[in-house]
Amino acid sequence: MPIGLFGGSFDPVHLGHLNLAKSAIDLIGLEQVRFIPLNLPAHREASLTRLEDRLKMLQRALRPPFFLDETEISRGGVSYTVETLQSFRDEYPTRSLCLLLGKDSFDQLGSWRSYDKLLSIVNIVVAGRPNTHNGIPAYLKSTFESALSKSVTSLHTKKCGVLYFLEAPLMDVSSTKIRCNILKGESLMGLVSEEVAHFIEQKNLYQL
Ligand code: ATP
Repeated sequence: MPIGLFGGSFDPVHLGHLNLAKSAIDLIGLEQVRFIPLNLPAHREASLTRLEDRLKMLQRALRPPFFLDETEISRGGVSYTVETLQSFRDEYPTRSLCLLLGKDSFDQLGSWRSYDKLLSIVNIVVAGRPNTHNGIPAYLKSTFESALSKSVTSLHTKKCGVLYFLEAPLMDVSSTKIRCNILKGESLMGLVSEEVAHFIEQKNLYQL
């Protein structure tokens, strides 16, 4: 069975992330999903949240078949997905590996290091997110269109090279929205798991 690889800031991890991972398990038949928190982002300011707290929230939110994976933290420096994927490929030379992406991330893929090499290492599964258009953005078509498949089976039979759009139920939640809600004193109910909500309250995270 394929392994799902899901990277992000997870600042904090929220129900949109968990929902996407669960849909990928249920609809694709992934064996597991590895949540891979980034060390330093390539395209934005580094997070103000302590790494230790981001990890503790993930530990509280994840249960098998979801696993915390510290590959990018251990490597240190700026986290480039292509390097992470190559290290998984070295570890699993023949397994199908599926990189999970929200549609907003997929639409920005052209700015990622060696984005045109990703499909030579893994399959890519894109899940819709509210307010994003379906499909491949025009500027990425020449790189990705020929890889597009509507067959889930291809994610099992091919270890890399397939682009698949997952029809997952969508949740209108983002880490940005959660951080704003906290500043406004609004509830986190329905946005993060109970354990994560307690941790944020206990530690007074995301307050000015
Ligand atoms: P921020 O608001 O700080 O940008 P985020 O909510 O987008 O954070 P990240 O940790 O940056 O969370 O995202 C990790 C991955 O999860 C990305 O591929 C992103 O597209 C995806 N993702 C985040 N929220 C959702 C959601 N509600 N539905 C589907 N995918 C999501």
